[in-house]
Amino acid sequence: MARDLRRKYGERHRIVRAESAEAALDALRQMKLRGEQVAVLLADYRMPEMNGIEFLEQAMDIYPGARRALLTAYADTGAAIDAINVVDLDYYLLKPWDPPEEKLYPVVDSLLESWLAADHRPVQELKVVGHRWSARSSEVREFLARNQVPYRWYAADEPEGRRLLEAAEADDLALPVVITPDGEALVEPADAELAGKVGLATTPSKDFYDLIVIGGGPAGLGAAVYGASEGLRTVLVERTATGGQAGQSSRIENYLGFPDGVSGAQLTDRARRQATKFGAELLTTRDVTGLEVHGPARTVRFSDGTAIDAHAVILATGVAYRQLAAPGVNDLTGLGVFYGSALTEATTCAGHDVYIVGGANSAGQAAVYLSRGARSVTILVRGPSLRKSMSHYLIEQIEKIPRITVRTCTEIAEAHGDGHLERLTLRDSNTGGTEVVDAQWLFVFIGAAPLTGWLDGVVHRDNRGFVVAGPDLPGGGDWLAGWPLDRAPYHLETSVPGIFAAGDVRAESAKRVASAVGEGAMAVMLVHRYLERT
Ligand SMILES: Cc1cc2nc3c(=O)[nH]c(=O)nc-3n(C[C@H](O)[C@H](O)[C@H](O)COP(=O)(O)OP(=O)(O)OC[C@H]3O[C@@H](n4cnc5c(N)ncnc54)[C@H](O)[C@@H]3O)c2cc1C
Repeated sequence: MARDLRRKYGERHRIVRAESAEAALDALRQMKLRGEQVAVLLADYRMPEMNGIEFLEQAMDIYPGARRALLTAYADTGAAIDAINVVDLDYYLLKPWDPPEEKLYPVVDSLLESWLAADHRPVQELKVVGHRWSARSSEVREFLARNQVPYRWYAADEPEGRRLLEAAEADDLALPVVITPDGEALVEPADAELAGKVGLATTPSKDFYDLIVIGGGPAGLGAAVYGASEGLRTVLVERTATGGQAGQSSRIENYLGFPDGVSGAQLTDRARRQATKFGAELLTTRDVTGLEVHGPARTVRFSDGTAIDAHAVILATGVAYRQLAAPGVNDLTGLGVFYGSALTEATTCAGHDVYIVGGANSAGQAAVYLSRGARSVTILVRGPSLRKSMSHYLIEQIEKIPRITVRTCTEIAEAHGDGHLERLTLRDSNTGGTEVVDAQWLFVFIGAAPLTGWLDGVVHRDNRGFVVAGPDLPGGGDWLAGWPLDRAPYHLETSVPGIFAAGDVRAESAKRVASAVGEGAMAVMLVHRYLERT
């Protein structure tokens, strides 16, 4: 293996070989002290002192950004699949890897490429000093994680955190303090300020594009990849972080081409790289608040009043989590109560009792994910069972994990806590009886709604706010009231020519990653058709 690797990569990379996992960990520690970078870790599954998964788990503590691949014999494929969950494995390679040109190099090329893209930003040493019970600290961590920006976390009440605050001449009253690699301290930075500092584009380079895609979830990323790859000057505008809801999924099991599942973060990372490779511009932390029609131009307005124009627009703004209405929940959001952000909080709630509200797949996935670290996970569902709302495969997984309990016919009546969630009052929806339980962590997954108020009076929406397109428009394909053209709207076209809807924001959409990506691609095809005929 070392010989094959040296032959192809020896000129640009150092290939370090170790005889055992312990020796490899020693070598990694030495490299860390010397400030060297590690791009890829390749471990055999079968090793004498510890297996490859255990090794990768420990190596991750030293080099979290290194890409990870496991070498396995056919018989160990099951273990490799488990490793995908445990160590977020990027690949497993079946032995033998002959010929390397076919079986080894393409994998290593892709690992190196993704490492270069993700971990060579000038933010390697970004430090976040915060309090684990501060809502803004959690938001900043989530923002960085979802944008795949590596950072190191320091608790403000621990010695190293205190030292950093002192050095930054800051105190623990305004947290978090983010310290950039060149030593600049940002106190409670807003997402846009942070994005600018970590090298994420926030300003458009042009004022006119062929295509503006609004929303950076799977539909938007799909549209950006197809738009840019087919020669359209394309810009994607995302309010927070690319990936959308899918970016928050711990494991998407049903996306075509990933038989062992793929984490939302990995899928997003790949899609981003693919879109940028084709020349799409990706803007983050830009909130679109207006859409105007000026003759053939479509104007997209940002929250700061600035605007860009294009021939065509794809609306891919998806849906946002619905808020839990119970008293106390609002005040404790970010302070133990989280909407969907189970992934970034997983380490903080390790060893604790965790509650999850919701009966759909997103709640099930979060329960499975959190059960790895938490002492117990309780899923609260209003209905009598999960069967109506959750996929069969997830229910089976949940049933096999003893730490997860499902409480049916239960809802949250109130959340209590002073500065952090401490207790929940649960209500039995059959009897009305209540019970108070100790709880520090509550994750809410109770469905989602499109936030499309800013499209009022621009495009036709249904009574729940979803954007209606194509044959679903009133009057079907012949919908003509106010429609200026002598053709019916195309399939994903809204009530305004040249404005398309793709993914979850579209009325009657499938609410799946694959269909969102597919609609993104299809919308681009229709944009071409629209451009050809105007
Ligand atoms: C936890 C979880 C697990 C899931 N698991 C699966 C699964 O296993 N399989 C599956 O098929 N589906 C799964 N889904 C559903 C799937 O993720 C969605 O169907 C898919 O993400 C929809 O993609 P989208 O691009 O249409 O919208 P979204 O993913 O919702 O993305 C929309 C994006 O638009 C941005 N945006 C919104 N408004 C604006 C604005 N005004 N300006 C700028 N940007 C804006 C948002 O910030 C967001 O990033 C899961 C969903 C969740 C929440």
